[in-house]
Amino acid sequence: MSGLAIQMAYVVAAALFIFGLKLLGSPASARRGNLLSAVGMLLAVVAALLDQGIVEYQWILLGFAVGGVIGAAAARLVQMTSMPEMVALFNGFGGMASLLVGAAALGTSTATFTLVTIVLSILIGGLTFTGSLVAWGKLSEKIGSGAIMFSGQKIVNSLIVLAILASAVMFCLQPENLNWLFLLIALSLLFGVMAVIPIGGADMPVVISLLNSYSGLAACAAGFAVNNNILIVAGALVGAAGIILTQIMCKAMNRSLSNVLFSGFGSVKTTATVIEGEIKPISSDDAFYVLEAATNVAIIPGYGMAVAQAQHAVKELCELLENNGAEVNFGIHPVAGRMPGHMNVLLAEADVPYDQLLEMDDINPRMENVDVAIVIGANDVVNPAAREVESSPIYGMPVIDVASARTVFVLKRSMASGFAGIENPLFYKDNTRMLFGDAKETINALIREFS
Ligand code: NDP
Repeated sequence: MSGLAIQMAYVVAAALFIFGLKLLGSPASARRGNLLSAVGMLLAVVAALLDQGIVEYQWILLGFAVGGVIGAAAARLVQMTSMPEMVALFNGFGGMASLLVGAAALGTSTATFTLVTIVLSILIGGLTFTGSLVAWGKLSEKIGSGAIMFSGQKIVNSLIVLAILASAVMFCLQPENLNWLFLLIALSLLFGVMAVIPIGGADMPVVISLLNSYSGLAACAAGFAVNNNILIVAGALVGAAGIILTQIMCKAMNRSLSNVLFSGFGSVKTTATVIEGEIKPISSDDAFYVLEAATNVAIIPGYGMAVAQAQHAVKELCELLENNGAEVNFGIHPVAGRMPGHMNVLLAEADVPYDQLLEMDDINPRMENVDVAIVIGANDVVNPAAREVESSPIYGMPVIDVASARTVFVLKRSMASGFAGIENPLFYKDNTRMLFGDAKETINALIREFS
């Protein structure tokens, strides 16, 4: 294949990535976007192989088969609630791949530019790998999910950064001395661990998104190291998309990125919140009478809806309420659930029309006119402490203001806290009624009352 044809294939692949990303912006077109990007990647891989003039394909085909089987099995078998963990692992492997590509580029050239790109792909790839493994461990609770802080941590981290800089410079000066390379690899791996352990709790999703961005930057650096245009483009796209998502998530939590990375969520002891009021449980029979009289209902789903797999029952209840003359909208918080877009994906699976899904900023001003807000397995994203309690770790995070509705039903199994591990004063408010039980069973009980 001629050089021009290969470069043309790269341009087509890049265009497919960009269109794919664009289509991922809406739940209606996301599947097509995913498919387009995957086709783009296949094209990029085939063109890159032809570009290298490889004649023996047996190892490549074996790798392709093994990787394909593992990827397909992982995607098929993963529980919806474990998606962020899978994304963390995949980011990590992306980082490791860039590290290996960077290391393999050694010896191709001693130009300073190549050496610097090798350093960058090893450094960013290495820290992405171990950082992602720690993030995976925290999210899956294989290791404690809290922030790990110790005195002198910042000094230790600064020393590691200085050692990385020194070994990177020495490597560029003496590329034939592999000890500098090995030292750089070891320090990058160590730095990934040290950078992620002080982050915990509800900040983990932001870290996953940031590591995703890093895996893109590492691939981009590796692309420069091996002089491959499509790797540079794909890496830059992942890097940019990851950083934009990180920004969106920080905004949704009202935190700056530096605050997320360096402050240690929940590690600062806050004074215990004194909550006034009492818990008022309600039965599904009584809840039904309130719902039957409602003309404006808002449904606020959260992680518990995913756990209960209640989305189809929620859709059925929504139709019954509408047939009864009520207007029903869904309020979607940007970090509800355990991954960006988690609620949108579940509700799309149950065919809830997209125009019924309102973002937080659109539903909050309407909340005063809502007769009943039904909170289904959401906790942190409806916690009024974020507005009212200055000492709360989530103070300042924008939340869905369900307390402004006339009546609030909270569907959950117990008084347990959510992901952030903090108390929720909403449950004690005068207008809140607790509907205890598994969300799906509770909603099915309400559906039976309606029928
Ligand atoms: P939360 O984690 O705050 O709360 C979920 C609630 O669901 C729990 O209080 C639990 O209470 C309840 N629940 C669990 N299972 C069931 C069930 N079967 N039936 C009924 N209720 C159930 O969820 P939110 O969606 O409100 O908030 C998301 C949190 O996760 C935020 O802190 C966010 O920062 C964080 N996060 C977000 C990510 C994202 O990208 N979206 C990724 C990772 C974390 P009980 O046990 O009593 O039933």
